[in-house]
Amino acid sequence: MTSDAAVFDAAALHRLVEVLMERGYRVVGPTLRDNAIVLDELESAGDLPRGWGVDVAPGQYRLRRRDDDAAFGHSSGPQSWKQFLHPPRRRLWSGDRDGTPESFGGPEPDPPRYAFLGVRGCDLAAIATLDRVLGRGQYPDTSFVRRHRQIFVVAVNCTEPGGLCFCASMGTGPAAGPGYDLALTERVDADAVRYLVEVGTPEGADVLAAVPHRPADDAEAASARADVAAASERMGRQMPDTDLRDLLISSRESPQWEEVASRCLTCGNCTMVCPTCYCTSTEDVSDLTGQHAERWQNWASCYEFDFTFVHGGGSVRQSGASRYRHWLTHKLGTWHDQFDMSGCVGCGRCIAWCPTGIDITEEMNKMARDD
Ligand code: SF4
Ligand code: SF4
Repeated sequence: MTSDAAVFDAAALHRLVEVLMERGYRVVGPTLRDNAIVLDELESAGDLPRGWGVDVAPGQYRLRRRDDDAAFGHSSGPQSWKQFLHPPRRRLWSGDRDGTPESFGGPEPDPPRYAFLGVRGCDLAAIATLDRVLGRGQYPDTSFVRRHRQIFVVAVNCTEPGGLCFCASMGTGPAAGPGYDLALTERVDADAVRYLVEVGTPEGADVLAAVPHRPADDAEAASARADVAAASERMGRQMPDTDLRDLLISSRESPQWEEVASRCLTCGNCTMVCPTCYCTSTEDVSDLTGQHAERWQNWASCYEFDFTFVHGGGSVRQSGASRYRHWLTHKLGTWHDQFDMSGCVGCGRCIAWCPTGIDITEEMNKMARDD
């Protein structure tokens, strides 16, 4: 018997990348660079980090050689897909002093059409979170909307969660949720690597039709899904099973904020690597002649001292404790009031890339114990 899923091999994965390129996509996926697995434009599926995994711990990230040829056998790296949908730095406009309409330049022309290859459940949920925050409402961010509406997403169901993953307790993984065009589950057998492929959209079906594949039989589809379900039992971290919003609101005066602040450098790393943190600031610059001016949008962090600067009054959140409390309370608490969802998808990046190893799950579990 066959299921609705398909199966293809590693050669077909190469063909999938070629088909996406032939259709005008710039294919972005994990690749090996600078002792890390980073997201970059692929020239072929040969650029994938086949045979590499990672070991992560609070404040630590190390590449590790795997004993198989898995291409997606690694947990989150330092980057997320956010950088392609909501760039770290973007010119909003430029103008010359002659004041003619021709001298006024807007933001970039049409953004690239990206195909994202290897999007985990947590990161797919993060893309949906960014869409909720930036792409909707009365004043959507048109740059985000233009980029987001033309992406093609190849998700990867997770069968090997990392030591800092907690998507299961945030309800975002390890299986990829809605929002993908195609979803792969990587199966590494003794003789070969195969992929169970599930179709999420008509565009996904159209692309799959151009790639050699065969129908999956029920047994192999069930076995792949069982591997993904089993991964939820092997998460490296877990959030407390309680209402995190209420816990944070009732912990406003907790002494824990000062204790965390004694370890927090307010460097903002956690916000930069977070796939859902979206804050920006704007900066006006001119050239030395004063004839040309530009306005730029840059990622910003609520950990920056001047993030809450008010003209004539200084910064509202002056202490490290108040800035950490703000970040955590917004991320896991008031995000629900604002956007009807959590701001955290459980990817674990903020734990790995915190230079002092502050662990969001440990802080929340401690707060729940002390409540
Ligand atoms: S929690 Fe860690 S990463 Fe975040 S600002 Fe503090 S020291 Fe930096
Ligand atoms: S808060 Fe940390 S674990 Fe949650 S989504 Fe952001 S980086 Fe990932």
